[in-house]
Amino acid sequence: MEQTLAIIKPDAVERNLVGEILKRVEEAGLRIAALKMLKLSKEEAQGFYYVHRERPFFDSLTDFMSSGPIVVAILQGEKAIERWRSLMGATDPAKAEEGTIRKAFGLNVEKNSVHGSDSPESAAYEIAYFFSKVEVVNS
Ligand code: UDP
Ligand code: MG
Repeated sequence: MEQTLAIIKPDAVERNLVGEILKRVEEAGLRIAALKMLKLSKEEAQGFYYVHRERPFFDSLTDFMSSGPIVVAILQGEKAIERWRSLMGATDPAKAEEGTIRKAFGLNVEKNSVHGSDSPESAAYEIAYFFSKVEVVNS
């Protein structure tokens, strides 16, 4: 069983899309192993996206990610990382495939509604960034 870190970003929380996005997670057969809502500070957003610190979009991205509440979740299942990435769709909603979350709800390449870990290493870092051991269900 693999785990991945999912985020419902501020643009989606703001538009009342939490239920719709979690419904897609559950319908795809992924299990929710942890779930909470929080609001990141600018510094916390910078820490989460540390790998992107040199990218031109880093400052705008971390402003956006700290602009309002987010929902963070650990999703669990066989190949959870890849399955959640394919449910999300391409980073740029304009390039995302039909039927994906970003195609349906993403506003632009920054405000693209959801995040998903891209490797087992990033999943481990990102899960530990948000969740302590007692917050994660073992099933
Ligand atoms: N992003 C952006 N401009 C870009 C590329 C990415 O604002 O040109 C934002 C976008 O919100 C994206 C996040 O930075 O989800 C992280 O980028 P990454 O390349 O890791 O994309 P992802 O893994 O989220 O598809
Ligand atoms: Mg990424």
